Amino acid sequence: MIIEPRVRGFICTTAHPAGCAANVREQIAYVLRNGPIPDCPKRVAVLGCSTGYGLASRIVATFAGGAETIGVSFEREPTEKRTSTAGWYNNRAFEIEAKKIRRSPVTLEGDAFSDEMKAKFIESVREKFGQLDLLVYSMAAPTRTDPDTGQVYRSAIKPLGAPVAIKTLDTETGEVFETTISPASEEEAAATVAVMGGEDWKRWIDQLADAGVLAPGFRTLNYTYIGSELTWPIYWKGTLGRAKVDLDRKAEAIRERLGPDAARVVALKAVVTQASSAIPVVPLYGTVLFKVMKQLGLHEGCIEQIDRLFRTRLGKDAALDEAQRLRVDDWELSPEVQTEVSRRWPLLSTETLGELADLPEYRSQFLRLFGFGIDGVDYAQDVDPRVVPG
Ligand code: NAD
Repeated sequence: MIIEPRVRGFICTTAHPAGCAANVREQIAYVLRNGPIPDCPKRVAVLGCSTGYGLASRIVATFAGGAETIGVSFEREPTEKRTSTAGWYNNRAFEIEAKKIRRSPVTLEGDAFSDEMKAKFIESVREKFGQLDLLVYSMAAPTRTDPDTGQVYRSAIKPLGAPVAIKTLDTETGEVFETTISPASEEEAAATVAVMGGEDWKRWIDQLADAGVLAPGFRTLNYTYIGSELTWPIYWKGTLGRAKVDLDRKAEAIRERLGPDAARVVALKAVVTQASSAIPVVPLYGTVLFKVMKQLGLHEGCIEQIDRLFRTRLGKDAALDEAQRLRVDDWELSPEVQTEVSRRWPLLSTETLGELADLPEYRSQFLRLFGFGIDGVDYAQDVDPRVVPG
């Protein structure tokens, strides 16, 4: 079939196997250009390994760090007539490339929130790796079923306390408008913490520690976004921020159990991913941020951020912030970037968007997540959606 993007709001319901594979290969090429990372942990797990920051983590650990990896993600498989999720294609492309350098990656697809997946994962680690040196938790999910109670929690991305009026962007039409988002109820806020907070992270680490599959010196990382005042009303001071603060608490609890360096929350910059495009304000903020960071020569996507994390922030002497986090969002939050983004923010309108922000770049990055718009891929070719080219 000929596969074209089918965009519905902030999701694309199709993905291109050759495009996703090319995207994975481009990320690998970037990491290889930067050379090896000799002191990278060698037995690495990535939860949420198929897209965004998790995929980048798996690529950096494997292709620069020389690690063996086990990844977990939630996917839909392809059929003869329907494409899979982009993550399924990415996982296959990653495996093909990793095998070329004689790695033997293990990928488990299913619900990482479930205890069944945790048990299956522990079996695989015992069988293939013995123990783990690093676990990266990079999950972003809209819902979570509590394994103890069966209750389904659904996250709500909303402010807390009072309604918030904020500028936003319709990325399909290019219209900039003000919208008012009503505050979350206590129940919605608690559900968001249950999905996006640290409970599942802690549960993973406890079960792995109980099973004896964590190596001496084991470390775990969990990714967060803090951002700037422009997005705080909806992000850091809203339900999502409350969930992310819970990560700091759980990191502390893991350190108490496993040692003072065992767990770190890592603050990363805003990038276009499937998860971030669903958050109000973030696409508008992103279009301005990308333009400013490009103009200043500071632009980074997932692979550049994670490459910098692994090369410069994993040493024992890496600087921590007041909440014991590692920070790789320093360029985004630098005064030169934030002063310029804040200057442009009040001037943003449908008419000025083209001059002050970079919507075409945002759209192109969004389509690339699904394997579209990538140089060298022949989109006119009839392809079997079940086959990822090697
Ligand atoms: P993403 O949507 O690209 O990736 C999410 C991953 O989670 C995918 O691999 C998906 O398959 C997996 N997943 C979802 N539900 C699952 C389930 N039930 N079981 C197993 N796997 C599941 O998201 P992302 O933007 O890369 O986000 C990853 C982390 O990075 C999040 O913690 C996010 O807050 C953080 N972060 C993102 C940004 C950003 O701008 N995108 C910035 C800073 C931090």
